[in-house]
Amino acid sequence: MTLSPAALRVLRAVAATLVSDGAADLGDRVAVKIAALPRRSDREELDLLLRWLDSQVLNLLLTGIPLPFTRMSPAQRERCLRGWATSWIGQRRKAFQALKRLTTVTHYTTPGVARAIGYPGPLGPPPNTAKAIRPLAITGRTLLECDVVVVGSGAGGGVVAAELAAAGKDVIVLEKGGYRNEADFTHVEGEALETMYDAGGLLATRDLGLVVLQGATLGGGTVINYTTSFATPPSVRNEWARKHQLPHFEQKEFNVALHKVANRLGVNPDHANPSGRDRVLIRGLETLGWHHGLLPRDVRGCPQDDSCGYCGFGCRAGAKQSTLVTYLQDAVTRGARIVVDCEVQRVTIERGIATGVEARAGKSGFAVTVRAKAVVLAAGSIHSPALLLRSGVSLAALGKHLALHPATAVFGQMDEEVRPWTGTVQAHYSDQFADLHEGYGFKFETAPVHPSFQALATPWKSSAQFREWMGRLPRTALTGILLRDRFGGRVRVDRAGNPIVDYRLSRYDRRHLRRAISAAAELMEAAGAREIWLPLAQPVSYVPGVKNAREDWLRRVDAAGWGPNQLLLVTFHQMASCRMGASKRTSVVDAEHRVWGIRNLYVADASTFPSASGVNPMLTVMAMAHRAAGVIATH
Ligand SMILES: Cc1cc2nc3c(=O)[nH]c(=O)nc-3n(C[C@H](O)[C@H](O)[C@H](O)COP(=O)(O)OP(=O)(O)OC[C@H]3O[C@@H](n4cnc5c(N)ncnc54)[C@H](O)[C@@H]3O)c2cc1C
Repeated sequence: MTLSPAALRVLRAVAATLVSDGAADLGDRVAVKIAALPRRSDREELDLLLRWLDSQVLNLLLTGIPLPFTRMSPAQRERCLRGWATSWIGQRRKAFQALKRLTTVTHYTTPGVARAIGYPGPLGPPPNTAKAIRPLAITGRTLLECDVVVVGSGAGGGVVAAELAAAGKDVIVLEKGGYRNEADFTHVEGEALETMYDAGGLLATRDLGLVVLQGATLGGGTVINYTTSFATPPSVRNEWARKHQLPHFEQKEFNVALHKVANRLGVNPDHANPSGRDRVLIRGLETLGWHHGLLPRDVRGCPQDDSCGYCGFGCRAGAKQSTLVTYLQDAVTRGARIVVDCEVQRVTIERGIATGVEARAGKSGFAVTVRAKAVVLAAGSIHSPALLLRSGVSLAALGKHLALHPATAVFGQMDEEVRPWTGTVQAHYSDQFADLHEGYGFKFETAPVHPSFQALATPWKSSAQFREWMGRLPRTALTGILLRDRFGGRVRVDRAGNPIVDYRLSRYDRRHLRRAISAAAELMEAAGAREIWLPLAQPVSYVPGVKNAREDWLRRVDAAGWGPNQLLLVTFHQMASCRMGASKRTSVVDAEHRVWGIRNLYVADASTFPSASGVNPMLTVMAMAHRAAGVIATH
């Protein structure tokens, strides 16, 4: 569905108001993105809200301006949009954020635009690296047969495929993303988001309260992730063993699995040369005497220099040990077949037994049917439950308990050049507040800030203020907050079978987040920040040094509100929506990764975590998948 002509007219005016120095076709390019949103109802809602924005009566009632948006003066338009940004009506804030994010990210990811704010990327063309994998070409309606079909090729799918192929199984991997290797890593932000992230980077919870980032490319999240490779913490393993009655998490077999995957990925603590961002973080932590440590990373020969930091768009150096350069290549060497651009629609289940999957491949949407003795879902924590729901599986816990590690950051304006997009992607962390209550709390880490992220995070009050804040990028540092959430959300599917993600921060988790914001601001002060701010809808900042400045700022933050579409929250880690457990009433898979009540159907990805892992989850996913492969191989 494309926008109606009336909505498009308003969108053009909105885009020109949000970014007054944008190209003449900015609104039209945003319209193309809206047309590509995965859910029809989201597209229809935006169309309707845009038309409301042009309603004279509504504008009079809501903002006191008795004009359609398209007939307002530039100053009136800005005032009107500010009203939407801070409205007490959730729908208006949601519409504002949708339009602000789409417009500003589209503008600042237009090649060349970000040069004006000192951003140099991308750094030349990608290398001419040959492709090591030759995916199966699908040129028409196709029927395939194998022992095991694996859906998804990320942290879980890659490991399962390689280990099963090593065990002599005939394996087929179906991946909905394309095959992009070093030679395709252009590091052009907009292109990378569109081609390597799920829904082109536009996935979000239903109320847009959380931006959902996950990989959708051969290798899944492991290709675009930040290489941090924590083993599952002993306290979390203990919680899973005890509370979820899954003793194997504390047994030797899980140690062995963790060890094997870490070994294959070459996880090591020797590539933690601090970036400009990390140096600020360390300075703050050391001044306060708070914990900090080196991050273990899955890299071999990582340069850790100015060529780094673009890892979220793929590692050109081939240093990141994603499944693309490890497990998937192992799988192929042992005979596994890989199909890319192939989206699985449903699992075929006959009389309680999984018999294969049905998928669509390529732009032409050729039907692909795979008949298999076993089906392993590793499509990640949003799509694995959606697939099961589409396939008619009905279990009380299916899609529930979704954990997201909600992340945000406190930003600081520094005297020094930080150039937050560059250097080692993540090198240091702090667990000072990781255990505030029963193992729940938050971690501090940093993350690269490229123009798209800065545009997402920067509050908008006027196009002049926004432009000025974007220009601060080179001297911006951040303390990233990663919250271990205790109470989760839910994945459902709409009538067309698309996933809908419902998630609201619980009061318990909000308390921890409030503590995190306060502590992160204290840290930025200790690191010497001149001005400190939070990614709220509107600018709320403070200059440290004045008595009670932070306490006063926190009161203003509370007054501005940090509910959905007031504070930017992002999830990089989706977990636990098909959780493992000891009973079919409270979980989706048993201790052996088998979906309760359906034979030959397994799930082996982050969705099987019993709860949030509290640490960056990749290594835990892989260890669980490694163990799952052992179970399936003896099937
Ligand atoms: C920007 C970013 C940075 C991150 N940094 C880190 C980090 O530093 N350390 C860490 O531990 N974790 C990190 N993570 C998280 C980590 O990458 C994930 O937790 C992990 O990859 C999850 O593994 P998975 O197997 O569950 O899913 P994924 O790795 O996401 O793989 C799922 C795959 O299934 C495919 N798929 C989905 N639906 C279908 C379908 N219907 N048919 C066919 N294929 C389908 C997807 O395209 C995808 O490739 C990061 C994530 C992001 C987005």
